[in-house]
Amino acid sequence: MAQLATPSAVRAVLEKYNVHLRRSLGQNFLVDANIVRKIAAAAGLEKDDLVFEIGPGTGVLTGVLATEAGRVVALEIDRSLLPVLAETLAGLDNVTVLHRDAMQADLDELAAAAAPDAAGRPYKLVANLPYYITTPLIMRLLEKRFNISRLVVMVQLEVAARLAAAPGGKDYGALSVAVQYYTEPEMLFRVPRTVFLPRPEVDSAVVRLERRPAPAVAVPDEELFFALVRGAFGQRRKTAGNALAGSGVMPGWSRAQWEQALSAAGIALGRRGETLGLAEFAALCRVCAAGGG
Ligand code: SAM
Repeated sequence: MAQLATPSAVRAVLEKYNVHLRRSLGQNFLVDANIVRKIAAAAGLEKDDLVFEIGPGTGVLTGVLATEAGRVVALEIDRSLLPVLAETLAGLDNVTVLHRDAMQADLDELAAAAAPDAAGRPYKLVANLPYYITTPLIMRLLEKRFNISRLVVMVQLEVAARLAAAPGGKDYGALSVAVQYYTEPEMLFRVPRTVFLPRPEVDSAVVRLERRPAPAVAVPDEELFFALVRGAFGQRRKTAGNALAGSGVMPGWSRAQWEQALSAAGIALGRRGETLGLAEFAALCRVCAAGGG
């Protein structure tokens, strides 16, 4: 499959099947065999693994995944790529390509259909994600609590930095908290824009998200926890107290009530939202859920 990972091979196969690249679907295809191998290696696949791929494109990564895993299920939204995949993946009997929108698919259901004998066993997910839905797609996969043990995803460099950011830095935000609530993220390596066809405007990075057995912090009410996170980050230049007082979370609460709640959660009043760690948001959530400070 590595021989497919060159600009001329990708161009030739797309031309053969009259496929027109669609930027609106985030179609930036990998044309570097070394990067393809590195992404697959980062997933640490084993012979009995089921692995999902989102957006197989020309199948350049799919083929390598198929040689390392037990079974690959690849979801591609663009119907015009299906004949391409039928050619590039011919002979690999452990690959199933499905014409599906990953934003709608129920991966647990598809996993049970693909590997009925392994019902309930966690699976892995590897993808060079389409840029236009990177964040909502990652959030959907986590919030749906699909039975994924590990995600290895290539995303824009700037998103990778946000996924793995620690409190206090410019990259830390609501996305960092949400992803770190469900997983342990690790930024693995940077990928230059030159290895894609067509070339995107920005560089990328590969990130591994290791699903935690249980969320990083215990909260009495997840919806409230994430509302507090969004509220505190809503106005970055304000203190957490000011941002939350104007956020509408805990309707009717006065500024003084927010100050009491923050103090009860052990958070100094001058702190800004972007300095608060997960444990602090969880403590604030417990205070709010109990009715205040
Ligand atoms: N895996 C290929 C590679 O690395 O060369 C292609 C990666 S390309 C960045 C993203 C792929 O995702 C494209 O094939 C695109 O058609 C597909 N895609 C875009 N939106 C999708 C969606 N909602 N569900 C499934 N696939 C999608």
